[in-house]
Amino acid sequence: MARFAKRVLSIEPSPTVRISDLIAESQGKGKKILSLAIGEPDFPTPMHIVEAAKKALDDGYTKYTAAPGIRELREAIAEKSQKENGIPAKPENVIVAPTKHTLFMTFMALLDPGDEALIPDPGWVSYAPMVILAGAKPVPIRAGEEEGFVPTADAVCDAMGPRTRMLILNSPSNPAGSVYSRDEMRALAHEAEDRDVVVVSDEIYEKILYEGEHVSPASFDGMFEQTVTVNGFSKTYSMTGWRLGWLVAPKPLYQQIVKVQEHTITCATAFAQKAGVAALHGPMEPLQKMVEEFRARRNLVLAELAKIPRAAVEPPRGAFYVFPRIDATVDSTQLCERILKEAKVAVTPGSAFGKAGEGHIRISYAASRESIVEGVSRIGRVLEKL
Ligand code: PMP
Ligand code: GLU
Repeated sequence: MARFAKRVLSIEPSPTVRISDLIAESQGKGKKILSLAIGEPDFPTPMHIVEAAKKALDDGYTKYTAAPGIRELREAIAEKSQKENGIPAKPENVIVAPTKHTLFMTFMALLDPGDEALIPDPGWVSYAPMVILAGAKPVPIRAGEEEGFVPTADAVCDAMGPRTRMLILNSPSNPAGSVYSRDEMRALAHEAEDRDVVVVSDEIYEKILYEGEHVSPASFDGMFEQTVTVNGFSKTYSMTGWRLGWLVAPKPLYQQIVKVQEHTITCATAFAQKAGVAALHGPMEPLQKMVEEFRARRNLVLAELAKIPRAAVEPPRGAFYVFPRIDATVDSTQLCERILKEAKVAVTPGSAFGKAGEGHIRISYAASRESIVEGVSRIGRVLEKL
C-alpha cells in the first residue's frame, strides 16, 4: 500500500475542475446536465491565433524553448505590461507558463513551512491548496458581501504577523466578480509595502471588465520590487486549453522562481508561445465582442435572478460569475447537490471558495443565453420547494 505525503492528503480535489470533469463524463453517457459551473469562455479561440499556432508547427516550433519563454513573447508581454498596466517590466522579468503554474512556482519559491500567505475569502479555489502544497499556511482575509467582496486594508493589517510573507490579491475577482478600486488597491499595497510582504496579484480577469478600471499594484511607486503579477491568455483570448500565461517579477524574485520552472515544466509549449505572440499583437475585436456578449449575459442573469425572491445579488463589475446569497435552510454544498439532482443544473457552492462564501452559490454565465435563462429558472423552481 502506497503511503502519501501529508501535504497532498491535506488538500481536497479542485471543486471547479472536478465538477467540469463529472459533467463531461455524464454528457458522454447521454445525461443532459446544464452547466453554469465552470469558468471557461464558451467562444472559440480567435482564428488568427489558431493560424499562428498552425504556422508555428509547420515552421518547426516543436522543441524546447528557453526556460522563461521565447524572446518575442517575453518582449510582447513586457510591452503590454508597461503600456496597459504601468508596470515597469522588461523581458528579463517575464516567465511564460500556464497561469496556475506561475502561481504554484511563486509559492514554491517564496514560502517556507510555517510561513503565512493571506488570501481573500471568498477567493479562487486553488490559492489555499497551492499554499499548503508549498508547505505554508493560508490565512483567509474576509472579503465577503459586507466588504463588497474586496479585502479591506484593516483586515489585512489585523492578519499580518511575524510569519506573513505574502498577500494574494485578485481583481476582477473569482468568485464574486468584484473589482478593487484604485484607492482600495493602493491601501492594500501599502499594508504589504510597510512590512516587506510580497504581493501576488492575479490579474487573469483583467480584460473582462464592465465597470471601473483595472489597477495593477505593481504600477504603484516602489511596489514593482515586491510584487509578482500573474496573468494569462485563458480568459482574454478564450485559450483555456492552450495552457498559456505569464508572470512578471522583479529580478531577485524572478531568479528564484525561474529555477522552479527549469526543474518542473522546463518551458511552456513552443508553438503555443508563438500563438501567444499573435494574440498580443493581433486585433482586439474578438475580445471586445466577447466582453460585450458577457455584459449582455450579466444583465440577463441579473434579471433572471431578480425573479427569485430567495436570491439576493451584488451586481458583479468584472469576470463572468455572479455570486448570489441564497436564503435556504441547507448549506451551499447540499443546496448545489439538490440543484444538480432535481434540476440537472451544475453550479458551484459558495463554501468551495472559503468560509465567507457559505450561503452563496456561484453561477458562471460563460454559457449561452438560453442556458442562462433555462438554468436560473430551474434553480428558482428548486428554491421554491425549500
Ligand atoms: N486565477 C483565477 C482567479 C482563476 O479563476 C483561474 C482559473 N482559470 C486561474 C487563475 C488559472 O488559470 P489557468 O486555467 O489559465 O491556469
Ligand atoms: N478558474 C475556473 C473556475 O473557477 C476554471 C477552473 C479552475 O481552474 O478552477 O471555474
